[in-house]
Amino acid sequence: MPLDTGQDQDRLAALQILEGASPAERLQALRDAVPGRIVFTTSFGIEDQALTHIIFSEKLKIDVVTLDTGRLFPSTYQVWAETEDKYARRIRAFYPNQDDVAAMVADAGINGFYHSKEARLSCCHVRKVEPLGRALAGAEAWVTGLRADQSGNRAAIDFASWDDERQLIKIAPLFDWTRERVADFCTEHAVPINELHAKGFLSIGCAPCTRALQPGEPERAGRWWWETEDAKECGLHVGADGKLVRRKAA
Ligand code: SF4
Repeated sequence: MPLDTGQDQDRLAALQILEGASPAERLQALRDAVPGRIVFTTSFGIEDQALTHIIFSEKLKIDVVTLDTGRLFPSTYQVWAETEDKYARRIRAFYPNQDDVAAMVADAGINGFYHSKEARLSCCHVRKVEPLGRALAGAEAWVTGLRADQSGNRAAIDFASWDDERQLIKIAPLFDWTRERVADFCTEHAVPINELHAKGFLSIGCAPCTRALQPGEPERAGRWWWETEDAKECGLHVGADGKLVRRKAA
């Protein structure tokens, strides 16, 4: 689907020239370019923590929200609390619909995601994708912590793209940063990070679907490790065709 208005296309084109700027400059430029609601969804991974630090420290008018799936690690809740304490800000949580969770668990079992791809996608839909829709309601832009050099099919990620499915501008301010650069930034600024990162968990999602990496494994190998590499997304960052959303302005 093409961009629906010339205004959105102009905003997206203007943002493409910011590829050499700092993440703070990129977020400020986004704020300046988009008059409406901007939402940043954090899952409290190290990239998200770096962006939360910038948004809160720079007092940018960007809503910081999270999707509490109900299956997160205790240490994720810990870093969530530490972050709210450090910056004296609340992070709004969106929760799954409880009737949908009950029906899914009754049908597939509490850990049905291990037994079939359909059950895994259903769980991710109920616990993440549907709440994400509510979190982004009315937003004109969506900020994420995606990086292009994460494994899986994230190499296709751009700084700014148009999300056809959700009809908004999608921004990845750290798209061209390495993990080491993000880690250095967090150390330099004393940003709270999940203690699991130091234990080999580089990409942290729900507890039953995340394991530590073995030496030499790519960064996202610990997510849904029982599935094939091309299936390692939860549906938050894929379009209706199953591909990562990455279209640039025409
Ligand atoms: Fe369910 Fe696992 Fe997806 Fe979390 S990552 S929503 S537990 S399937």
